[in-house]
Amino acid sequence: MKTKPFVFIGAALVAALLVFLNVGGPKLMKKSLILIVMGPPGAGKGTHSVELSKKLGIPHISTGDLFRENLRLQTPLGKEAKKHIDAGHLVPDSLVNEMVLDRIHKPDCKPGCILDGYPRTVEQAKAFQPILEKAKTGVLYINVSDDVLTDRIVYRVMCEKCGAPYHEKFFPPKQEGICDQCGGSLYHRKDDTKELVEERIKVYHQETEPVIQYYRNKHLLLEVNGNQSMDEVFSALIEQINNIK
Ligand code: AMP
Repeated sequence: MKTKPFVFIGAALVAALLVFLNVGGPKLMKKSLILIVMGPPGAGKGTHSVELSKKLGIPHISTGDLFRENLRLQTPLGKEAKKHIDAGHLVPDSLVNEMVLDRIHKPDCKPGCILDGYPRTVEQAKAFQPILEKAKTGVLYINVSDDVLTDRIVYRVMCEKCGAPYHEKFFPPKQEGICDQCGGSLYHRKDDTKELVEERIKVYHQETEPVIQYYRNKHLLLEVNGNQSMDEVFSALIEQINNIK
């Protein structure tokens, strides 16, 4: 009879240990947060993604930056992507999907990530859907009218070291040609010429706009008016993120 309390305490301790080790039940892992930032070239996806990444403490993954890094390092992927990027066209889905899957399985993406420039075709969106379904998700769509895009892009410069974006008219660095954040040199992207921008906007309407509809149908689309000041767009994005359930 005297042993009963010990049996009870022992059973409670074992149960507590099992709960602690998460044995025999569904995994109690907190859901990660995956944000997809969409919008036409020049909508400010990169600029806002960098700020969101700092605010939310999750990595910013830009497929364009990943390709540019592969180009700089002259990897086989970079060499293959170059042909498409230089023509203002999209890189084939299979290459992009593989590159993104590889990146998001790195440990820093465990709490989530901000995807900038992916998915850009319905095929990519479908390939990514199983991953998206496991996470807390929002698709932030920065909607900007075509007439302001070219001007935004042709004056755009980036840091070659940290990728921070600037605009020579609207958001210049403190010292011309030098990154405020890391002191790196600023450069014009090769595909930011007037001719290529027009081609990229055309490709955007053909290939990427259907992705917006794809997410709208899934009730994941969170639209923000991108024809406002940068601060206003950023506040609107935060407001939308706060509404994600
Ligand atoms: P961005 O820096 O996002 O403007 O991307 C630069 C270029 O990289 C694009 O014009 C495409 O050629 C290529 N690219 C980036 N992301 C993707 C994607 N998700 N699918 C296909 N091509 C891409």
